[in-house]
Amino acid sequence: MIITANYHYVEGTFNKKILDAVRQEYGTYKHVKYQNANITVKFNINFIPEKNEAAVNKYDGKNGENRLANVTTKDDGRGVKFEESDFQQVGVDLNKLKTTPALAYNEEGNFTVELPDKEKDKREISTIIHGIGHNLGLIHADGDAMNDQHTKVTPAGNDIFGKKAYTAKALQNDVSHSNAQSLVDRVDDMSSSGYQSNGESNYWQNKTETTTGGQVSIEATGVTTITKE
Ligand SMILES: [Zn+2]
Repeated sequence: MIITANYHYVEGTFNKKILDAVRQEYGTYKHVKYQNANITVKFNINFIPEKNEAAVNKYDGKNGENRLANVTTKDDGRGVKFEESDFQQVGVDLNKLKTTPALAYNEEGNFTVELPDKEKDKREISTIIHGIGHNLGLIHADGDAMNDQHTKVTPAGNDIFGKKAYTAKALQNDVSHSNAQSLVDRVDDMSSSGYQSNGESNYWQNKTETTTGGQVSIEATGVTTITKE
């Protein structure tokens, strides 16, 4: 099964190295079960630079042609929100990703720790991975790629003033075997009540299925084709 989706973005807004890391994470084959058979799933995720916003805005999730946009997110009750994605676009707040320190607490209360640039990059990679998951039809309950982005703060001795020092790390969200299985399970059951039970959108509700020469293609919003092999 091949799950294909293209993401158009304004050239220069996103760092190619970060997008390559996202592609790499989606890039490995996953072995899953589909209708009692063992099959492999391949994600075919592509990033396509465009000259400007107008060129990017031509894409609206149809035929698997989506947008990757730098957006300004509004925090909700669950903490800092880095990402807002739907069936048309993956939206991430680059400014917040680059500036928000890690949160931690100890006996003395809450405090913040600056993330090194490398860790900020990792956080951005994770966030795009997560947003693509939404765009493809994964929900938070699917875990792994869909986990909230977390940072880990650990004590690192004392700083030069003799005060306790801390280091912050970003934890990466991985595209797991179980994420692939969740998507594949939905290929035949897009409208199951279980899928929609926690109030998240079902982007595959309006999928269309066509059979050409024995090959079945599913066209779902946000996904070009899911080719059943
Ligand atoms: Zn999410």
